[in-house]
Amino acid sequence: MSFDSLGLDTEILKAIHEQNYTTPTPIQQQAIPVILSGNDLMASAQTGTGKTAGFGLPILQKLLDQQVQNNNKSGNPKGKRPLYALILAPTRELAAQIGENIRDYSRYLPIRSLVVFGGVSINPQMMKLRGGVDILIATPGRLLDLVQQNAVDLATVKMLVLDEADRMLDMGFIHDIRRVIAKLPKKRQNLMFSATFSSEIKALAETILHSPKLIEVAKTNSASEQITQYVHRVDKRRKRELLSYLIGKNQWQQVLIFTRTKYGANHLADQLTKDGIKAAAIHGNKSQGARTKALADFKTGQIRALVATDIAARGLDIELLPYVVNYELPQVAEDYVHRIGRTGRAQNQGQAISLVCVDELPQLKAIEKLIKKAIPELITQGFEVDPRIKPEPVKKSSARRSSPKRGSSTAHRSLQPKQNNVKSANRQHYTRSK
Ligand code: AMP
Repeated sequence: MSFDSLGLDTEILKAIHEQNYTTPTPIQQQAIPVILSGNDLMASAQTGTGKTAGFGLPILQKLLDQQVQNNNKSGNPKGKRPLYALILAPTRELAAQIGENIRDYSRYLPIRSLVVFGGVSINPQMMKLRGGVDILIATPGRLLDLVQQNAVDLATVKMLVLDEADRMLDMGFIHDIRRVIAKLPKKRQNLMFSATFSSEIKALAETILHSPKLIEVAKTNSASEQITQYVHRVDKRRKRELLSYLIGKNQWQQVLIFTRTKYGANHLADQLTKDGIKAAAIHGNKSQGARTKALADFKTGQIRALVATDIAARGLDIELLPYVVNYELPQVAEDYVHRIGRTGRAQNQGQAISLVCVDELPQLKAIEKLIKKAIPELITQGFEVDPRIKPEPVKKSSARRSSPKRGSSTAHRSLQPKQNNVKSANRQHYTRSK
């Protein structure tokens, strides 16, 4: 199947060919015709499946059709552009990413899109809205602020997209979403995307969508097959040393690293920098400017290691990102799938390595249960686990410290840990050269 058969305008096709998209991904093949036909849609598709073009392209096509219709009716339409499509996203990074994609896809179209999110000054956003935009991509809180200031009128919206709806619920946006929806016209087309179909998501869908078509591309909770996953067992106090060693030895030039806490992200970025690896941290406590700069430096290769918390990394789209490291396993198993989904995007291969200490074995078990397979184990000579160290429960993410101080009593404990259940046949050995 090619893009040419989907009924998209030649100017849209030109733009996507320039993005080097040759064949539509499964979500695009299924979602584009559904959206073009005017149906509501509920799609289970993770980031990395091409879902942004899956909704972005048909929105552009429909908007274009509507513009042609209006031109035919009224000759030369003057005045402010009515807002046609509203796309809600849980994080600034995801909103910015969607905005970038929409801009790329609409490069040859007479269409205006704008991204708005909190954490930056509202005034420039208000100025830009004054001229009118066709497509608005927004995080819910900032959108409501703008509505309150009469900077945007939602009464003309014909299409609503809720992207990463599961994450919006997790982040407590449900009331904001309902407030936004109350301001939209009743007659509109609704598209909802979510990585998982939890019962909360189904309940939300029932209140928003009208007879939606259901599309499920990747099996819920399964990890992409283009991602090679490994577990590397290691003692907690030696994680940083092992990470620096792996980055250096394997000459990883671009690696995204996950920690559970903001403190942990900062601390690890500092430590890697001390080890001579250019690193930066992104998380919710960083200013938007600092986050944007860190991400830009990472994309251009000025920074080799980007250390992120789950929420900050949500929606990050780094082209050809080859490596993801879980420095600490997430507390929620589903987050593992989101994390490793930063690599192996579209048709590319990726590698995800989780550094797992004895405390995290229950989380590893939960992840393996969720993805329905045992993750093969890597071993590096010189970094074997100390069998005398006893597991301790992992602290909640809200804790200030994610790991004990160097040399603190928790780092050395006695007794035998539970044996890892990954078969030794799966093991792959890295040999330590120094
Ligand atoms: P998304 O899931 O929308 O975040 O997209 C993931 C990545 O796949 C982005 O880098 C897109 O630019 C890329 N992409 C989307 N559709 C295609 C396609 N049909 N062919 C190749 N790459 C694509």
